[in-house]
Amino acid sequence: MSFKQFHLHPSIESAIRRIGYTEPTPIQRQTVPLILQGKDLMGLAQTGTGKTAAFVLPILHRLQAGPRRQPRVLILAPTRELAEQIHEAIGELGRDTGLKSVTVYGGVNKNPQIQKLHAGAEIIVACPGRLLDLADQGAIPFSGLEILVIDEADRMLDMGFMPDIRKIVKRLPAKRQTLLFSATMPEDIQKLAKAILHEPAIIRAGEGKPASTVSHAVYPVEHHLKTSLLMTLIERTETEAVLVFARTKHRTKSVATKMKRAGFSVASLQGDLSQNRRQDAIEGFRSGKYRILVATDIAARGIDVTRISHVINYDMPDTVEAFTHRIGRAGRAEKTGDAFTLVTPQDRSFLSGIEHVLGETIERRTLEGFDYAAPVPAGSGAAAPARSFGVRRIPAGGSGRDREVQGARSHWNGPACKGARKAAPRSLDGFPLRLRSAQAK
Ligand code: AMP
Repeated sequence: MSFKQFHLHPSIESAIRRIGYTEPTPIQRQTVPLILQGKDLMGLAQTGTGKTAAFVLPILHRLQAGPRRQPRVLILAPTRELAEQIHEAIGELGRDTGLKSVTVYGGVNKNPQIQKLHAGAEIIVACPGRLLDLADQGAIPFSGLEILVIDEADRMLDMGFMPDIRKIVKRLPAKRQTLLFSATMPEDIQKLAKAILHEPAIIRAGEGKPASTVSHAVYPVEHHLKTSLLMTLIERTETEAVLVFARTKHRTKSVATKMKRAGFSVASLQGDLSQNRRQDAIEGFRSGKYRILVATDIAARGIDVTRISHVINYDMPDTVEAFTHRIGRAGRAEKTGDAFTLVTPQDRSFLSGIEHVLGETIERRTLEGFDYAAPVPAGSGAAAPARSFGVRRIPAGGSGRDREVQGARSHWNGPACKGARKAAPRSLDGFPLRLRSAQAK
């Protein structure tokens, strides 16, 4: 099937040709005609499926007719990176349409955003908090709004944005088209969908499962050897861009620093960075200045780098959804990619959960010649877990996962662990507290 069949405005067709998309991805095939018809839609789609263009293309087409330089479309995204990515996609796909989009998100000066809104734009791509802030100041007239898009709704839920989203929706005209995208469908998202969508079409593209173009492998390793295994693995693997996930800001920084010292081309991305350094990390990774980016889940949200050949989970994620999102970074738009996960003995039960969702056992690999028996460096403060992947003491009581948490904790009670545990930041980028302690080292 070609894009021709959508009968998009010639200015949009020319952009598609210029960018080089030859045929629509499965989600685009399904959603574009429905959005063009003005239908509400619930799209179960993960990042990497081409979902941004799936809603941007028909929206640009619909905006061709009607008033200009006033807000007609609102796109809500959980992070500024994702907002920027959507804004860029609109810029590229809508280059010949004369339509304008502005981004609105916190952490930066409000005034330039207000000025751009005053200058007039048809599309606002926003994070909920700052949007409400500016709306309260009267900077955003919602009365002419025709289309609302909520992207990565499940991530918004994780980040506590649901009350803000509900407040925003209340301010919008009731007669509008609403599109809701989510990689997963927790109960709260179902409730939201029920409340705000009118007879929606439901589209599924790779729901709940990581992109099928990604091949997985796990590398069992003791905790204190993770960084050296990571470096050896990257050294020995032919890669393009490599995205490494660590669990906390602190660990993200420390892994990147160690890699840098060892001579790797690496940047780190986590919530503590200034906007300039964040931009340098993202742009540098995108342009190839940095081959490796070490990031937390939240910080890496929305990073759109088509060259990512490998995603490496330095730390196991805390939820299967987070795993799915991470893996969606590799193998984007039906390219192939590899996902490697370093697994310590503490991570084993969680790994079983992921394998259950994937419906397959992930291949276990060992790196030939790597010294898996190397001792914990003296005075490193590195916490050493139990030295084997064998039987672990799991106290009775609690759910399976809780028990796993307690079991994991029991390994961390020795004197070597104390400092390290204290150093573990309390805020782990918005993940459920339930499982954090299992991996807080
Ligand atoms: P997304 O799922 O929106 O994050 O998109 C993932 C990547 O796929 C982005 O880099 C897009 O530029 C790219 N992409 C979107 N649609 C297509 C298409 N029809 N053909 C090739 N690449 C695409």
